[in-house]
Amino acid sequence: MEFFSFIIIYTSCKVYIFLKTKRLIQIKDPLLRKIRLGLRQILLNESKKRLNLLHDKRRDLQDSQELNQLSYDEYIHLVNPIVEKVNKIRIELSSSIVVCAICRDIEGDRVFSPKDKIWYCPKCYAILEKSYKKEIEALGKIN
Ligand SMILES: [Zn+2]
Repeated sequence: MEFFSFIIIYTSCKVYIFLKTKRLIQIKDPLLRKIRLGLRQILLNESKKRLNLLHDKRRDLQDSQELNQLSYDEYIHLVNPIVEKVNKIRIELSSSIVVCAICRDIEGDRVFSPKDKIWYCPKCYAILEKSYKKEIEALGKIN
């Protein structure tokens, strides 16, 4: 089971499909909003905890390399999997519904952009949508 795959907990949310593709996940009930925020905080704290552990491992390896306990090749061989894990966690977190991909907000509703396959808060998505429309208009003027 992937780390963020159990975000499917939002089954009680109302899902609106408009403009054919973008999806708004909106919760109006204050109690459900509180539960959603609590779940997001748990996921965010867990990802921070895992990132901190990986950073500690990387720092230990750097110290060993600086003290000549590890050769540069050994250091690279050991540190690359750690860097890959850090990147994977960051990408999963950024593209998950837990945080807005732009403002990093953990509260509030989310809009899924099928173009980017990323979740945004409604405010950030509105700004993005304006830029998408300007981009389409600009392309129309060019062609
Ligand atoms: Zn945002």
